[in-house]
Amino acid sequence: MHHIAIVGAGQAGAALAAKLRTLGHRGRITLIGEEPAAPYQRPPLSKKYMLGELPLERLMLRPEAYYAEQGIDLLTGIRVGAIDPAARTLKLSDGRQLEYDRLALTTGAVPIRLPAALGGELDGVYCLRNLADADHIGPEIRPGRRVLIVGGGYIGLEAAAVAAQRGLAVTLVEQAPRILARVASAETADYFRTLHRAHGVDLREGAGLARLEGAAGRVTRAVLSDDSAIAVDFVIVGIGVRPDTALAEAAGLVLDNGIAVDAAGRSSAPGIFAAGDCASFPWRGGRIRLESVPNAIDQAEAVAAAMLDQPVTYEARPWFWSDQYDVKLQIAGLNTGHDRVVIREDGRGRSHWYFRGDRLLAVDAMNDARGYMAGKRLIEGGLPVTPAEIADPGTDLAALLRRTASPPAPAVA
Ligand code: NAP
Repeated sequence: MHHIAIVGAGQAGAALAAKLRTLGHRGRITLIGEEPAAPYQRPPLSKKYMLGELPLERLMLRPEAYYAEQGIDLLTGIRVGAIDPAARTLKLSDGRQLEYDRLALTTGAVPIRLPAALGGELDGVYCLRNLADADHIGPEIRPGRRVLIVGGGYIGLEAAAVAAQRGLAVTLVEQAPRILARVASAETADYFRTLHRAHGVDLREGAGLARLEGAAGRVTRAVLSDDSAIAVDFVIVGIGVRPDTALAEAAGLVLDNGIAVDAAGRSSAPGIFAAGDCASFPWRGGRIRLESVPNAIDQAEAVAAAMLDQPVTYEARPWFWSDQYDVKLQIAGLNTGHDRVVIREDGRGRSHWYFRGDRLLAVDAMNDARGYMAGKRLIEGGLPVTPAEIADPGTDLAALLRRTASPPAPAVA
């Protein structure tokens, strides 16, 4: 029985290790994570955990005893310094060398930091990606304080919602013409802009950050791209992530917007696989990399099977969610290539449906679990539905699900 090593103890790494055992792997499994904590969920960090509504133990993906019970060697607080793909060894930060038979890279993504020249290294400037980040930000969240949030993606908007709910004065700047430009339509951005403003957030679009200024090494003021300035007590930076490919690159693996893998998660190096935020994989004639928990889990589970020589073709079924105030946004599918957005309000919820021609690509559903579920099943089943049917509030979504599938979607450019 061979030894499988997994580098990266986030959602993908933990799912992969667990799946290897449920699929019957009896050999050694080593799961190595750089952070001191056992594998935990990241999504609540910018939501309930930051609000103080979720205790640390409920963040954990598994009870502490699980890893020992399953015979999974969990090495926390250990960095892998290098991979030698020919010798099949890993160099660990504690000086040890670890031999493996097969290796999975589930290294995730790292937040993009504000450059030091812009004041990114001042005290009181935070990224929000891991538990330590959330624990540093926690004590800053006190009523009456002034926070600047840089970036209007999910991190920025979720952090803004938490801070506004806790009584802080919140300014959010997004350098693009509108929030959520990378992930959602103008219609969805409009909905969330209105929501945030209704909660008192000073939300500014087309406004980048020129620089942060400080006193005695701590941030005190932000100068924006239009030369306006605001006084701040602290800053949360949510300006995106990049796949953590440093180890793979140093080991000579082929990269293509992440570690390039095939439909079974195999990288260009024999015996080395990758899954989750760090991996790009084949998708409709091209390649894609998804930054999401559902993808991390599903892909890692498929890769676990592939690592045990079971035939696997990973078919991504993208979905995402975000909680802001009392709104749950659920997204099914990917809207890339859409040419129209249909707004549906049927008295039971609101949803935005993305079409290319008559082909449904994605749905954003706001407090509308029915719309989300119907959209997800229509997309995944390739079921025929027209924009006019969706726009008609009288259309019974459940009835649409009884139709039969149309031919597969064409490739997305
Ligand atoms: P993101 O979705 O890439 O959004 C970052 C935003 O910041 C972009 O709109 C970007 O605009 C903007 N920006 C970049 N530089 C800026 C600057 N100097 N001043 C003002 N705005 C600037 O990334 P994120 O929100 O940081 O999230 C990180 C990752 O975590 C993503 O993968 C995200 O999907 C994930 N996440 C997901 C959830 C969820 O699914 N609920 C929640 C939290 C985080 P440009 O496009 O113009 O650069």
